[in-house]
This record gives sequence, structure tokens and C-alpha cells, in this order.
Amino acid sequence: MLLRLRRALPQAQLDALLALASSLGYRTRFLDERRELLELSGCGKPEHRSAFEDLVGVQSVLDAGDARERHERKPGQADTVVAVREARFGGGSIVLIAGPCAVEDEERLFEIAHAVRDQGATLLRGGAWKPRTSPYSFQGSKDEGLELLARVRLETGLGIVTEVLDPRDVEKVGEVADMFQIGARSMTNTPLLIEVGRAKKPVLLKRSFGASIREFLMAAEFVLAQGNTEVVLCERGVRGFDPTTRNLLDVGAIAHLKRATHLPVIADPSHAAGRADLVRPLARAGLAAGADGLIVEVHTAPDEVHSDGAQAISPDVFGQIRADAIAIAALDKKTVVLPSRATTRR
Ligand code: PEP
Ligand code: MN
Repeated sequence: MLLRLRRALPQAQLDALLALASSLGYRTRFLDERRELLELSGCGKPEHRSAFEDLVGVQSVLDAGDARERHERKPGQADTVVAVREARFGGGSIVLIAGPCAVEDEERLFEIAHAVRDQGATLLRGGAWKPRTSPYSFQGSKDEGLELLARVRLETGLGIVTEVLDPRDVEKVGEVADMFQIGARSMTNTPLLIEVGRAKKPVLLKRSFGASIREFLMAAEFVLAQGNTEVVLCERGVRGFDPTTRNLLDVGAIAHLKRATHLPVIADPSHAAGRADLVRPLARAGLAAGADGLIVEVHTAPDEVHSDGAQAISPDVFGQIRADAIAIAALDKKTVVLPSRATTRR
């Protein structure tokens, strides 16, 4: 590990640093005359990096060396592949997740589920609990919504991706969800991250609109540190200065994350755009930047919905996105995972 220390470090701070290094089993050596670059050799652990970062005398960890965190891609390390029913994220596989923003009307939910499956989705999205900016907005259909998701899962064979908002609901939601969604507003809820980490079930972790890439990765690290290795990162747009789009899809983050971490990364063009007409071009951009999949809001009657109607696209447009995904995947020698099992219709 290589540390950059603060200039003219007081002796007490240096002593604390050297004592920590020795207690963790490292040998230390200064690499420069000013004694600002400190090399630590020894067998590192992921938690050591933060232990040094937390010291007041340490400006930054320049190279984590063997103390790599769990999300980090070692040189030459292959992608982690996260399997959710028949879907496979990473390792050259691209997954399409689609469905309504929220679980609302029963008929509509089944109609949308069949429609997105017909158009190439292997996983159905839909929140039973909705994180909303205002406490007076629709908060989701909650337990009733969860029951509907259980039924639509059985009928269509689609895996279910649904948000869990409260650590106390993880067990209940986990009985229906094939993949927990942690929303942008919950990315910093560490008790929730720990609880889904313990659940040992795939987690779709969305980046907060105000989170740096490092903060996003540290949220993933909370899940990984519990022994749950099935984390898929989702870039859904960060807050920009211009209200023309709801958020700014950070395609640079997607490209960077594909290098920095072995975890799969997907794009959410719907919450980035906030407008149905921009979802398809942003979906293309996310895939072109290297995303291992998309999560898209699709609805058959967007005028009726209580959340995010303006960004809902039709199943037909979703079908065009599937065709785009197949074309872009071919450029990168990747494959789009399409649904295989026959299902019965109502
Ligand atoms: C959602 O997926 O409907 C949602 C609320 O997304 P985000 O957490 O990214 O805002
Ligand atoms: Mn939404």
C-alpha cells in the first residue's frame, strides 16, 4: 500500500500512523526525502485501506496494493456474473429489466408483464414500496403490491426486481423478490445495505443522484462486506444544473466502473431522462458505454399512473430498445439474454 501523508506531519500523528501500520503487520518505508510518501508492505486486507484513510495525518491512499476492497477489479480479473433466474449480468451477458415504476392496478401489471416479456425482458421491475420526494405523494401499494408481484412472477416466469425501503421489510420482500432494488434515496442507508447483504440474494444498487463514484462503491462495499457478492450497480443519472432532463446520465461513470470494479453495471435511462422521448437514445448511450444491462420503465397506460408517468415508454419502444441492445451487444461481442420459457396467458 502507498500512502500520501500531509506535509510536515506532527510527530504524534506520525507515531499514531506507524503504530497502526505495525499493529496490522506492515513494514514501513519512506520513499522521499520530505517523508510524505510512505510505502507499507505486508499482507493487506480490504478494511485496512479505510483504517489508514481515517487517520488525520493521511492525505490519501495512492495505491491500495493487497488491501484492495471487495469491489475492486484486480488486474486481469474477470467480471463477476450475477445470475437472477434466467438473467445473467456481466461476463458478456446483457439483461433487460422492464416494467412499471410502481405496482398499481392488477390488470395493468399483468398486461405490462406479458408485454415486456414478449419484447425481451427477463426481469420485471415494479415498486410495491415507493421512495417519494414528498410524504403526500403515492407511497406504493405495499403488501398488496407485493402479493401481486408474487402472482405475476408465477404466471409469467419473470424474475422480480422490487425495491425494499426498510431493513425490517427485507425478509418479507425477499420472499417475492428475486433481486432487491436499493433506490437512489436509500443508497446511504447503511442498516438497509447491511440487511440486504445478510440476505444473500442479488441486489440492484442504484447510485444516489448526489453520490460520487467512490461513495457509490462504498455503498456496494457495505453489501459485499456481509459476504453477499451478488451486487449489480445501476447508474440512473446524477443531478445536473439544467432541468431539461430530469438527471444527467453519467456515461463516464459507467465506462469507469466497468474498469474499476468486477461487479456488473447497468443503466437506468428512464430516471435519467424523465421524459419518454429520450429513454431510447439514453439506453443506447448506456450500453455503448459498456453497461451490462438496462432497467426501463414501461407502461401500457402512462396517463393513469401515480408515479413517473412522463418517462414511461410503450412496450413497442421497449422492443426497439431490445433491437438496439442486440446490435450494440454484437459490436462488443456480448449477448442479450432473452426470455426462454413459455408462459400461460390469462
Ligand atoms: C425507481 O426505480 O422507480 C426509482 C424510484 O428510482 P431511483 O431510486 O433511481 O430514483
Ligand atoms: Mn420510477
